[in-house]
Amino acid sequence: MLHPFSLRYNSSHCTWTSSHEMFRPYTLNNTANFFQTVSRNTRINLGISEKNRICRTSRVQPIMASPISTAVTTQQQPDSSQSTAPQPLQVAKRLEKFKTTIFTQMSSLAIKHGAINLGQGFPNFDGPDFVKEAAIQAIKDGKNQYARGYGVPDLNSAIAERFKKDTGLVVDPEKEVTVTSGCTEAIAATILGLINPGDEVIVFAPFYDSYEATLSMAGAKIKCITLKPPNFSIPIDELKSIVSKNTRAILMNTPHNPTGKMFTAEELGKITSLCIENDILVFSDEVYDKLSFEMDHISIASLPGMFDRTVTLNSLGKTFSLTGWKIGWAIAPPHLTWGIRQAHSYLTFATSTPMQHAAAAALRAPDSYYDELKRDYNAKKAILVDGLKSVGFRVYPSSGTYFVVVDHTPFGLENDIAFCEYLIKEVGVVAIPTSVFYLNPEEGKNLVRFTFCKDEGTLRSAVERMKEKLFLKK
Ligand code: GLN
Repeated sequence: MLHPFSLRYNSSHCTWTSSHEMFRPYTLNNTANFFQTVSRNTRINLGISEKNRICRTSRVQPIMASPISTAVTTQQQPDSSQSTAPQPLQVAKRLEKFKTTIFTQMSSLAIKHGAINLGQGFPNFDGPDFVKEAAIQAIKDGKNQYARGYGVPDLNSAIAERFKKDTGLVVDPEKEVTVTSGCTEAIAATILGLINPGDEVIVFAPFYDSYEATLSMAGAKIKCITLKPPNFSIPIDELKSIVSKNTRAILMNTPHNPTGKMFTAEELGKITSLCIENDILVFSDEVYDKLSFEMDHISIASLPGMFDRTVTLNSLGKTFSLTGWKIGWAIAPPHLTWGIRQAHSYLTFATSTPMQHAAAAALRAPDSYYDELKRDYNAKKAILVDGLKSVGFRVYPSSGTYFVVVDHTPFGLENDIAFCEYLIKEVGVVAIPTSVFYLNPEEGKNLVRFTFCKDEGTLRSAVERMKEKLFLKK
């Protein structure tokens, strides 16, 4: 059996973390104990060529995919030319601190433990037939070679039409719309294309995991404001206090993953004034805009004075239940689009051609499609929220997205990671621990996120499991 793991060691203790069982770091106070935990015949292969060097280093060693094999004895390592042992993983410093994404980890644990996956946000139902058929048709029509780098003209136009319907803003599809491979790439192209090393970028914690990693790749300095329960409202004075002459941009997300918070007109107005006064750009991730339940979504680009300093980022995946298609876009004035397109040209160059044609058909869906989507999600949300309340969670209000955040502490587990581990193994349900979305993980230790982008039967079964097996701490 293979156990990928990493080892951290300093002079007083040794911590061994299997990345499969990510929640159980083994801390050993002396290395003798460490070696007693494996059998006499076990070879510990840490992927480091010199035998015994493993516990002499004080540096964190990110060593993944290193097998503990029960078949080999404690002998000299074979020389590297014959070795089948994997090499230690290597990663540039700018990504050293990041782990396998929490979504990947949780979805594999869901499979391993046969748990109901209310973790990673992907629907367990399919996207609409008319969109799938448009993709098949495009393939059959031979739309299979490289697309124009910044998008097939019909999709650029459909995005501009949709944006006009949603915000009233008229944008030039040729000069102000860039099609990307999912919103994650649009975010990366925006950051890499417009942020210089050392620029300060403000984010709101909890934040989507790719923000920090991408800002790190760009060499940006992250400035973080924490949104606190129950309302996760923007602490405007704190926001003002961290703006400096080096602040280049605010990277925001409304409706907000993971909390479901939607930025109010008042909050957006205050952010607008701050950005205009201090010449700050806004990168606004609005992928959940069509899943706004308690209030109307407002694109900050539509506020007076903002279009010229805003990049609006969106995608097809959530709105059309096609998260695997990875079609996204960035809408921005030409002077900002230039940088975005430069980065996009050298990241992916272009996005899947037939899927872009189908995306154009999708975005021209009648209003009834969007109404029905909201109705369906409202029903799912009610099942999950009522269910979680009846189980005993404190459920925080979620105005948009397909996520809801709860306080797990009534069940007596020490933190979000311990709670999620218990929930997977003992209850058979997967949630996302939120501490990974904070610069300071302590701030998220009481909160976990559930998604309701699953069919109603799945949501009900998850609630039933929790009712049967989760008990309030007396
Ligand atoms: N956006 C999805 C979520 O928040 C995850 C996407 C991913 O796995 N990177 O659940």
